[in-house]
Amino acid sequence: MTLAERARRVIPGGVNSGQRSIPGFTDLVIARTRGSRFWDQHGREFTDYHAAFGPAVLGHNDPDVAAATAEAGTTLALAGVGVTEAEVALAEELTALVPSLEKVLLTSTGSEATFHALRVARAATGRDLVVKFQGCYHGWHDAVSLNVISAPERVGTKDPTSTGILAPVLDATLVLPFNDPEAVRRVFAEHGRDIAAVILEPVPHNVGALLPTDTFLRTLREECTKAGTVLVFDEVITGFRHGLGGYQEICGITPDLTTLGKAIANGAPIGALGGRADLMDLFSTRPGGPAFFAGTYNGHPQVVAAALATLRKLREEPVHEHIYRLGARARDGLAALYRELDVPAVVTGFGSVFVTYFMDGPAPLTYDDLLANDAARFIGVRRALTDHGIFELPLNLKRSHVSYAHTDDDIDRLLEATAKAVRTVLAE
Ligand code: PMP
Repeated sequence: MTLAERARRVIPGGVNSGQRSIPGFTDLVIARTRGSRFWDQHGREFTDYHAAFGPAVLGHNDPDVAAATAEAGTTLALAGVGVTEAEVALAEELTALVPSLEKVLLTSTGSEATFHALRVARAATGRDLVVKFQGCYHGWHDAVSLNVISAPERVGTKDPTSTGILAPVLDATLVLPFNDPEAVRRVFAEHGRDIAAVILEPVPHNVGALLPTDTFLRTLREECTKAGTVLVFDEVITGFRHGLGGYQEICGITPDLTTLGKAIANGAPIGALGGRADLMDLFSTRPGGPAFFAGTYNGHPQVVAAALATLRKLREEPVHEHIYRLGARARDGLAALYRELDVPAVVTGFGSVFVTYFMDGPAPLTYDDLLANDAARFIGVRRALTDHGIFELPLNLKRSHVSYAHTDDDIDRLLEATAKAVRTVLAE
């Protein structure tokens, strides 16, 4: 029996998180990771542009992060009472770096951060409704488990990603198209007094990359302020990957609350929720307000050590310069390649993130625009890439990432391999 078969006997679906099991790759067992690479159980080497869905901003097993984590592991275990000096240092650093953060709490995952963002928004406003956008993902919990990658016929209707969610919870989440300021104004005109929170990925990377228009983000900020609604930027992907101040610093719009995760700790399990002090103070970490917040592993010493080491490197080394430059090289090179091959393609992304949609331009602004993407070709090219030792997640609309560990040679190989993979797919 193979390892993957053993896995399927005892682990539902054979993997420990949705979307780790990929059609055609059900035998994939990861044996080792290092820098920009991973190896499977047969010793096959892949240059990794999946980056574990984004955290590995420095590359896998970064030696400085690994050393800091190991050191914490031998000197400081989780005590589960009080606070540690490292937690204080991390909170000081996060609040200094991210514009909206006056105070911050740590979680173990991004989902917990978005869960608590919505809970405290409801606690603060006494309102029920939440607005999210088609194509944005905010984790697995009920209030946001809908309308991420929807089938065309489900767009415009409630499209839960799971069964088992109470109908009133789904009813309390309104779904709007991204980048549509008119839709935002309409929903506030109709329901403004009942909307506790608006939550969005400022750049919806869970469908590749939709770049937000300035008007859209400004409209959200204005309408939320007018209605007393809590604006939540979910920067679990964009935070620290796109810059030390998150996308909010780049776009110049400050939300009331921000959720963070992934790249803060280069792969260690972390999330964070921060924002306006008056909202954050509602959490009842005694003495405090009416909202409850807890987690056995929050602020785990090894995770906090990983975060401090990651942030130090992001501050002190030209990480963003490097990953932005390689990201741009990947996008420019891929766009030139598709022009040369005369294949309709939109190569887009931001900073270190890149994605190729197989459709005619211009760059998509809404999820509806993405319905034009040729999903079979999108997945086909990525599957063919694995034959050349390149791993971009072979699932529709998924983004790819470069890390500090990727090199110019890696990008050269990506472009060469993509040329071959596309020719293979075109010939099929
Ligand atoms: N928000 C966004 C934008 C995400 O991309 C994710 C994870 N892909 C989450 C929240 C949930 O984070 P986690 O998987 O750590 O719970």
